Amino acid sequence: MKRKRSEQLFEQAQRLIPGGVNSPVRAFKAVGGRPIFVAKARGSKIWDADGNTYLDYVLSWGPMILGHAHPHVVRAIRAAVSNGTSYGAPTELEVRLAGRIQKAFPSMELIRMVSSGTEATMSAIRLARGFTGRDTILKFDGCYHGHADSLLVKAGSGLATLGVPDSPGVPADLAKHTLTAPYNDLSAVRKIFELHGRKIACLIVEPVAANMGVILPKEGFLQGLRDITRHYDSLLIFDEVITGFRIAFGGAQERFGILPDLTCLGKIIGGGLPVGAYGGRREIMERIAPLGPVYQAGTLSGNPLAVTAGIETLKLLSRPGVYRKLEERSKALSTGWADAAKKAGVAVFGTRIASLMTLFFTNRAVTDYATAKTSDTKAYAKFFTAMLDQGVYLAPSQFEAAFLSTAHTDADIEKTVKAAYNAFQKM
Ligand SMILES: *Cc1c(COP(=O)(O)O)cnc(C)c1O
Repeated sequence: MKRKRSEQLFEQAQRLIPGGVNSPVRAFKAVGGRPIFVAKARGSKIWDADGNTYLDYVLSWGPMILGHAHPHVVRAIRAAVSNGTSYGAPTELEVRLAGRIQKAFPSMELIRMVSSGTEATMSAIRLARGFTGRDTILKFDGCYHGHADSLLVKAGSGLATLGVPDSPGVPADLAKHTLTAPYNDLSAVRKIFELHGRKIACLIVEPVAANMGVILPKEGFLQGLRDITRHYDSLLIFDEVITGFRIAFGGAQERFGILPDLTCLGKIIGGGLPVGAYGGRREIMERIAPLGPVYQAGTLSGNPLAVTAGIETLKLLSRPGVYRKLEERSKALSTGWADAAKKAGVAVFGTRIASLMTLFFTNRAVTDYATAKTSDTKAYAKFFTAMLDQGVYLAPSQFEAAFLSTAHTDADIEKTVKAAYNAFQKM
């Protein structure tokens, strides 16, 4: 496979853009080699600048649940663009998307749209602090909630990949308000609340962790968080930027039947355009400007193109059988590559929920960030490279999820499992 054009573009990019990438997770730093530059994408496939094709399991890190360039979504965006691309004034489209979101997420009694997941979590934290009059927040080691200052403490995703627990540039005076606990460890959470509970504005959690690889909540974990936060009058924030409309139409809160005070969404609800949203209990959301004093704004918030892509995506996702089909194919992939590893004698621990999965290169059960880090990242790098060379594009890091779309076919899955078997044989 020749990647000459990608290599040239990477050279040029590095002269203009830090590390040649506009988001660190796109770098191939953790797996060696140089990133492929994408020229176009359709369905389950991406094409690089040299014309090579790959089955795509990154899917823009989650948004493209319908696959790339879905004809209905493309048609809707085309129609919308001729009406202008931004007005800075309210539109009917925003009301329609908010209505669809609220139907799926009844706990979001009021919804505010923003332009990224980072904005959603950052604003939800500000609101929680404003509402409770408290400064302290609690998050989990290895959970990623975007790159707002308060949340870049022991964070997952690119920080896990690069091995930087906390970011320079975050004032110590601010970071000291962020407490952390190991994921899935209720007794640690309980202890922290016993000590600081009356100062804690909110606890923010990915109800299924997907930014240190995919880690499922243990039985009773989310319920425990609900009970503890309620006891101390702290707000429970579900960051469903990945899980929303992914693990079920109504996200983790539908799947596990636990309702947070505030929810953050992003990724899928923008259909591949920049979007985020946060919402929750009316009395809390009413503290936001212009109803209340907690300030939050955005020039492009509720952008008509992004909202159009979101509406169309949710419309297609609400058709019967969509999630069942995704579940079947995801299960086939997840068991397929785990079996292939076993046959080849490679130690792995596979996790999956709905169309979200990770194959950890470890013989330990992965339940939190510490156990995720027992993974052999060099083995993952070998696997990643061997898959790439066979036309399968996985996340260039052990500590990320693999995503499936409705465009992935049974033949795609079969090809991927075969490629995985070949890759394991070489290891
Ligand atoms: C991607 C992600 C974010 C940040 O969203 P951006 O749109 O990249 O700012 C926040 N939380 C979670 C759980 C995410 O996966």
